[in-house]
Amino acid sequence: MKHSFFNLLKKTLYWLCLLHLYLRLEHFVGWKRSVISLCFHSTPESVTSEAISILERGTSRKSFENQIEILSKWLQPIDDQQLLNWFRRTTSLKKDGLLVTFDDGYKNNQTVATPILQSKGVPGLIFIPTGFISCRKRFWWSRLSDAMRAMEPNQWKSLGDKQLPSDILKVVADEDLANWSSRKKARRRIALWLNQNGTSNSVIQAIESVTTPQHDPNMALLNWDDIKTLSSSGVIHFGSHTHTHPSLTQLTTLEIGSELQAGSESFKEHLGSLPLSLAYPGGHVDQRVENQAADAGFLLAFTTQQGIIRQSMNRLQLPRLYLGFSKPYEIYFSLVLINLAKYAPARFEATILRLARS
Ligand SMILES: [Zn+2]
Repeated sequence: MKHSFFNLLKKTLYWLCLLHLYLRLEHFVGWKRSVISLCFHSTPESVTSEAISILERGTSRKSFENQIEILSKWLQPIDDQQLLNWFRRTTSLKKDGLLVTFDDGYKNNQTVATPILQSKGVPGLIFIPTGFISCRKRFWWSRLSDAMRAMEPNQWKSLGDKQLPSDILKVVADEDLANWSSRKKARRRIALWLNQNGTSNSVIQAIESVTTPQHDPNMALLNWDDIKTLSSSGVIHFGSHTHTHPSLTQLTTLEIGSELQAGSESFKEHLGSLPLSLAYPGGHVDQRVENQAADAGFLLAFTTQQGIIRQSMNRLQLPRLYLGFSKPYEIYFSLVLINLAKYAPARFEATILRLARS
């Protein structure tokens, strides 16, 4: 009820052109410049009902197209080098900046998102975990989803006989996979445990062993040839997402350094230069991780914290935004709220931005 009232309000303000007027006014008198960095993952043609996790759902072509179309009209599209120049005050922005980023290097960033970016002249920045490129290795969350999507209820219950951590056995006992929502819930509970306890390959292997996982084509990754082709197009830039995509905050200082170095070396070997930017896997960062990123030579580093980039910010912990909307009136409304958040006292920013997201 509350949700539909909010949608009706957005639609009404959009059709009365009030959102458009506000944006025009802000553009005319606005005195604060900031940068909105969008964070995307998979960009499939359409969102399938088979998707059992947020990452699998991704951002559909229609949603991506509308977001880029509207935001690139109101904001100034930039790449990471231009963002760095803005921080160094060697470049100024005529409008608020727009930096479009993608994490993990999904193949559909090339097939679906890139042509849309090219048609609008908007640069894209893809963060790649180099140890997953051009090999058969797959992310743990894709492996878990592929197994859980194919899992039959009797196969699921057979996991109760395996040597597994007691928390996982409890999920097996609690959930019956009788319908899609219990399947999603079971997957979410296991993913949460893996996130909190450090990904355990033996747990994923045990889950995979009782069923026949079916690979989701929307989670396929780019290979080095794709990356070289995209890189030479001039529209798509690449940054590091480490080598093996671990949660860096759970590693020793020595391990963090090796991860970052391995990612950069592989990047240089294939693309001929070192990466300028880094996206922390899972957005996980603390002071130790940030220091290692600085030592490894990164000049910009991104978290998954929701926020607007201001010129005074720490360049090694930059926030991003995930809007998740597809309809023009929703995207306009988000943009108005982002503009309001820009002028609001810092302690209200998170609350206003929460309303700007789906
Ligand atoms: Zn990632």
